[in-house]
Amino acid sequence: MLVRPKGTKDMLPEEAYRWQYIEKIARETAEAFAFREIRTPVFEYTELFSRGVGDTSDIVNKEMYTFLDKGNRSITLRPEGTAGVARAFLENGLAGGAMPFKAYYLISAFRYERPQAGRLREFHQFGAELYGADGAYADAEAISLADAFLKNLGLKQVKLRLNSIGCAHCRAKYHEALKNYFAPHLDEMCSDCKARFEKNPMRMLDCKEEGCKRFTAGAPKMLDYLCNDCKTHFGKVKELLGASGIAYEIDPSIVRGLDYYSRTVFEFVTSAAGAQGTVLGGGRYDTLLSEIGGKNVPAVGFAAGMERLLMVMDAENAPFDREKTTDCYLLGMDERSREKAFTLARELRRAGVSAETDLMTRSVKAQFKYADKAGARFVAVLGEAELTEGAAEVKDMKTSSSEKIKFGELAQYLLQRR
Ligand code: ATP
Ligand code: MG
Repeated sequence: MLVRPKGTKDMLPEEAYRWQYIEKIARETAEAFAFREIRTPVFEYTELFSRGVGDTSDIVNKEMYTFLDKGNRSITLRPEGTAGVARAFLENGLAGGAMPFKAYYLISAFRYERPQAGRLREFHQFGAELYGADGAYADAEAISLADAFLKNLGLKQVKLRLNSIGCAHCRAKYHEALKNYFAPHLDEMCSDCKARFEKNPMRMLDCKEEGCKRFTAGAPKMLDYLCNDCKTHFGKVKELLGASGIAYEIDPSIVRGLDYYSRTVFEFVTSAAGAQGTVLGGGRYDTLLSEIGGKNVPAVGFAAGMERLLMVMDAENAPFDREKTTDCYLLGMDERSREKAFTLARELRRAGVSAETDLMTRSVKAQFKYADKAGARFVAVLGEAELTEGAAEVKDMKTSSSEKIKFGELAQYLLQRR
C-alpha cells in the first residue's frame, strides 16, 4: 500500500469541520481588525528565504525543502508565511497604497524537522502582517489581534510571554556581553552553538539541546542592554497591553527562531498540550523588507500553528461548531420516486437545506442504513402513493416520529426543525 510521506497528515472529512471552525474564527477576528486576506505561492525562489528568514536560522540551515526545477532554478517550499507576503507587498507596489498595510494568511508550510506530536513536515499556520507603522501601537495591535483570536477560540490557559530584543544599535553591545559570558563554556556546547557564537550569539539562547540550556539560564539579558529608544518603545507596548486588559509576563529567554526580528518579540504558550507549548509566535521585524530588496518599511506580525491549536483546543475542551450533517436524505422507493427525489433535492438545496439522495440504486433498507450512518437529521420517503399525493413521508431520525409534508412545504418544514 502507498503511504503518505513522513511528517504529513491527512485531514479527513470527519475532522475537517474542526479546521474549518478555527479558520472561520481566524478570518472573523482578522477582519474585525480590518486585516484582509493575502494568498501567495506555495513555493518561492530559495533566495527569498535565505535572505528574508536569515541564514543563521534553523529554518534556512536545516529545515528547508529545496530543489532545482527543470529550468535549474533553486526553488523552496515556503517554510513560513512572512517572507512571501513581504515579497508580494514589494513586488506589487503596495507600499504606494493605503498604509499601514494589514494582511492575514491561512497557509500550509514545510519544514524538514523530526516529526513528533505538534511538529510536522507539512503544517498549517494562521498569520498576520502589519507593514508601515514603526510605533508601539502597531506592536500592540498585532498582539491584540493574536490575543483576540485565541480568546475567540475559547482558550483560557494560553499565556502571553513578552520580550524586547532591541535594535541593531543596542544589540551590538549585548552580543559583546553574551560572547564574554559564553566564551568559557563554549567547549561544552553543541556545534550549532559554536557557529552561532560567531555569527549571531543571541540565537544561542534559543538552543534546544539540554547540554546548552544549562548555560543559557544565567546569560545576560537583552532587557538590561536596551537603548533609550528601544526602552521607550517597549514601555509603550506594555502600557497599551495593560490598558487593553491583555495580561503578559516578561520572558527574557524569548528570542524567536528567525533572524529578522527586532524590538518586540512574543509567544503565546501553554502547558496544556505537551512538549510543543508555543502555539503562536511573533514580533517586530523592521529590517526584513530592506533585507529582501525593498526600502525601509517597518513591520510586525505573528503566526500561529494550527496543529498545535487543535491539540490545545482538545486539551482545554474548547467547543467547536457542530460537525456537518445532512439535513434531509430523500429516499426513493422505486425508480420514479428516485427521480423525483433527485430533482426535489435540488430544490431543497436552493432553499438552503443540505440534502442528498440515492446515487447507488439501493434498496429501501440499505438507503435507511446509509441515511443513518451519514447522520441525516430527517429522511423524506417517496413512493408511488407519495408521488400521487404530492407529499413525502418525513421521518424525524431523532424521535422516529413521521409526518406527511407537501413537496412545496418541505423546505420550510426542514429549515424550521433541523
Ligand atoms: P519551535 O521553536 O517550536 O520550532 P518556531 O520558532 O520554529 O517554533 P515559528 O517559525 O515562529 O516557530 O512558527 C510559528 C508557529 O508555527 C509556532 O509557534 C508553531 O505553533 C508552529 N510551528 C512551527 N514549526 C512547526 C512544525 N514543524 N509543525 C507544526 N507546527 C509548527
Ligand atoms: Mg522551529
